[in-house]
Order: sequence, then structure tokens, then C-alpha cells
Amino acid sequence: MSGQQETIVVKVGGSEGINYELVCQDVAELVRAGTRLVLVHGGSAETNRVAEALGYPPQFITSTEGFQSRRTDRATLEIFEMVYCGKMNKMLVERLQALGVNAIGLSGLDGRLLEGPRKKAIRAVVGGKVVLIRDDLSGRVERVNVRLLELLLGAGYTPVICPPAISYESEAINTDGDRAAAAIAVALGAGALVLLSNVPGLLRAFPDESTLIRSISADAVEAYMSYAQGRMKVKLLGAAEAVRAGVPRVILADGRAEQPVCRALAGEGTVIA
Ligand code: ADP
Repeated sequence: MSGQQETIVVKVGGSEGINYELVCQDVAELVRAGTRLVLVHGGSAETNRVAEALGYPPQFITSTEGFQSRRTDRATLEIFEMVYCGKMNKMLVERLQALGVNAIGLSGLDGRLLEGPRKKAIRAVVGGKVVLIRDDLSGRVERVNVRLLELLLGAGYTPVICPPAISYESEAINTDGDRAAAAIAVALGAGALVLLSNVPGLLRAFPDESTLIRSISADAVEAYMSYAQGRMKVKLLGAAEAVRAGVPRVILADGRAEQPVCRALAGEGTVIA
């Protein structure tokens, strides 16, 4: 890859407290300096708010392996798309454009950017019992349309990407943003994947921020799973998948701070390598 600028994938979460203006300013700085950057984003807190306002409160399911995800029936998927592909995606594109970055917003559906199998059934624990959910519109990313991303990056655009993905049967499927970002980083041969959230990284005693775990070796991630609760478990899993598949380092870092991406790249946060 001689002579080519490094590629960085940044995923900014959707939890309360993230400072999108600071994230965009930092992204703009890196793009101006010539970094090939792909921004992936979430929108969970806003989706919950809109769903409540529409009288369709969110529901979450916990798999038998202990991973939490959003129960996605058709109405939930449509609300999810309104917020992710609509409000959140266009908010980020608008901010980046105002900062001089030629951002282009795409969901995983567009150009079959993120493709994978829809889950046939989810074994979930409800009220202490295991139930089989068959109509959930969710799945995982197996393939990334790298040609489309290379086309855009090569022409000077900065892709701003969000779930849903597209199933092999061409249905929109809800998919985890951290794991989607990991798949993109692997597919692009990125030099780093930065996962920004509303915490400084993985905390040994959440929510005590003085207990930040500074580094984890990729083959020891399992040993740290017990510190993570709820959605942090999936984030760690995505990070470990990316490193094992060849991304040199993944950094879980603070999306509330000044220069969040540059600080993460400088090693502030939890570095998994
Ligand atoms: P985002 O949508 O911003 O990516 P998530 O909600 O998916 O963020 O994951 C981050 C959340 O994980 C934190 O806000 C925190 O509530 C939770 N969490 C659980 N366990 C931990 C831990 N050990 N260290 C840090 N955060 C944790």
C-alpha cells in the first residue's frame, strides 16, 4: 500500500451525551490532512425517543448467550430507518458539509453496501423462559461492497454509513453498528477502527471512569467480557472480531471529549490490538 494514505474507520455511537459537533470537527481535520475516512454511526437513544413519541415503545431482547438487541418488527424497522437513515445520517452529513467535507450518506441497503443473512430465529430469554422469535428483521453483515466505498473515497467523498443492512433476500435488516463498522474496517484493510461512545472505554467497574482498562490483547478479550454489561458486550465482540480479522488496532474511546478521534488514535481509551 505504498504511497497510499491510511484508511481509518470511525464509528460514533448513538447513546446520550456524545458530542457530534466535536466528532465532526475532528473528522474534518483528518480528512483535510488526507486520511481516507469512513464514518459509521448509531442512533439508539434518538430511536428510543421517537419510538416512544410515536406510541411504539422500544423492546429489547436478550439472547440465550446474554447479548442484548432491539426487537425489530416491521413498525420498529420503519422507525429505525426514519431515525438512522433520516435524522441522524443527514445531521452528520450536514455538519460535515458545513465543515468543508464532501460527505455522502448511505445505509447498508444502498448499493448493497452491507449484506448478510437475516436471522431465521432468535432464542431469547423472556421472563426466565427461552422463547423462539421467528419474525425479527435483524441479521449480521457478512459482505461489504468495497468497490462502492473505494469508488467514493477515490473520488474524494467521505462515506457516512448506518444500518440497516440488506439480507441476501433483499430485506432491510437491523444490524449492530459496531459489528458493521468492524466488517467495513476489515474489508477496507483499515489501519485502525475507532469506536466512540459515551464512556472513556471499557471500565473495570462501570460507571466509575477512573477504572478504565487501557489495553487488551486480542486473544484475551474473552477474559474481559465479564466487565461488560448490556450493549458493551456486543461492542467488545465486534472489536475482537476486527482485530482477529486483521485490523491492527481497535480503540474504544470517548465521544464526548475534544478531538475524540485524534485522541483515540493517540492511544487514549481502551486499545485492543
Ligand atoms: P453506543 O450506542 O454509543 O455505541 P452502547 O450503548 O452500545 O453505546 O454501549 C456503551 C454503553 O455500554 C455505555 O453507555 C455503558 O452504559 C455500557 N457499559 C456496560 N458495561 C460497561 C463497561 N464495563 N464499561 C463501559 N461501558 C459499559
